[in-house]
Amino acid sequence: MIQSVAFIGLGAMGYRMAAHLPKHFNDVYVWNRNSEKAKQHASEFGTQAVDLQQAVQADIIFSCLPTSQDVDGILAQVSPKKGSIWIDCTSGVPDTAKTQADYLAKQGVYFLDAPVSGQTIGAENATLTFMVGGDAAAFQRALPAMQAMGSLIKLVGSSGAGFAVKAINNMMMAVHLCAAAEGFTTLKAHGVDLNEALACINASSGKSGVTETALPQRILNREFPLTFALPLLAKDTGIAVDLIRDARLSAPVIGLTQSLIQAANALAEPNSDFSTAVKLYESWSNITLK
Ligand code: NDP
Repeated sequence: MIQSVAFIGLGAMGYRMAAHLPKHFNDVYVWNRNSEKAKQHASEFGTQAVDLQQAVQADIIFSCLPTSQDVDGILAQVSPKKGSIWIDCTSGVPDTAKTQADYLAKQGVYFLDAPVSGQTIGAENATLTFMVGGDAAAFQRALPAMQAMGSLIKLVGSSGAGFAVKAINNMMMAVHLCAAAEGFTTLKAHGVDLNEALACINASSGKSGVTETALPQRILNREFPLTFALPLLAKDTGIAVDLIRDARLSAPVIGLTQSLIQAANALAEPNSDFSTAVKLYESWSNITLK
C-alpha cells in the first residue's frame, strides 16, 4: 500500500503531474529548487511543500528534472527511505539509469527510469504515456502512483530501457519535424495553400504527430507556445545518437537530424519552444510557414 508520494521538480511537466496525486494519496510532498513554486503548488492543489530530506521519506518519490545530471545532483544530497521506489520521469540517459539504480540499490531503494510523453496537455489531463525500465516487482508496486498521472504505462525492459525508448521517440519526432519543415517550405515555394495542404496530408499517409499537432497548433499559426523547450529536444536527440553509436549502427537520417536540431538550437532565442526549429529552414529559404 502506498501511503505517501513525493514529487521533486515542479517544472512545465512536474507542476501539472503532481497536481493529480492528492486525488489518490493522503500525503503528497512536493519540492522544487525555487521553493516559491512548491508553496504555490501546495496552496493550489493541497500538496505539502517540504524540504528535500522530508520529501525522500515518502514511499514513492518522483523526480522530473531537465537532465540525468540534475537528478544525480539531488541523489547526492539525500538518503531516501529504505524500501522506497524512486521513479525518475526525466528524459534521461540510459547508462546513467543503470548507475543510479545500482547506487540506490545499495541503500535498499528501487529505481525506475520512467520518462513520459504526451506534453504538458497530457500532464494536465493525466493521460501521459510512461515508458519504464527497471525491476518488475517494483514496477507493479509503483503502478498505482503512475496511473494517477498516465493512461498508458508500460514496462519496456531493465534499467535504462525507459530512457532509451523516450530518446528514440523524441528523435523520431525530430525527424518528422525536419521532414515537415522541408515539405511545407517546398509547397509554399510552389504557391500551395498550406492549411489546405495540411488537411490533405493529415488524411493521407504522410501524416505524423508533427503534422497533426505541431504544425496547426504551433507553427502555421505562428504562436510557438513554450511548453517543451528546444534545448530539451536537442538533449534528447543527443541521447539517441549516443545510443546508436554505442550499438555500432549507422543511422544517416538520425545523424543528419541531430545536426539540424543542434543548429536550430544554436540559432534560437532563449526560451524557444521545440517547434521553432522550423525557423532554421525559414532563415535559409526566406519562406515563412504560415
Ligand atoms: P522545465 O524546464 O519546465 O522544468 C525543470 C524543473 O527542474 C524545474 O522545476 C526546475 O526548478 C528544476 N531544475 C532544473 N535544474 C535543476 C537542478 N539542477 N536541481 C534541481 N532542480 C532543477 O522542464 P520540463 O518540465 O519541460 O521537463 C522536465 C523533463 O521532462 C525533461 O527531461 C524533459 O525533456 C521531459 N519532458 C518534457 C515535456 C514537455 O512537454 N515539456 C514532455 C515530456 C518530457 P526551478 O523551478 O527552480 O527552475
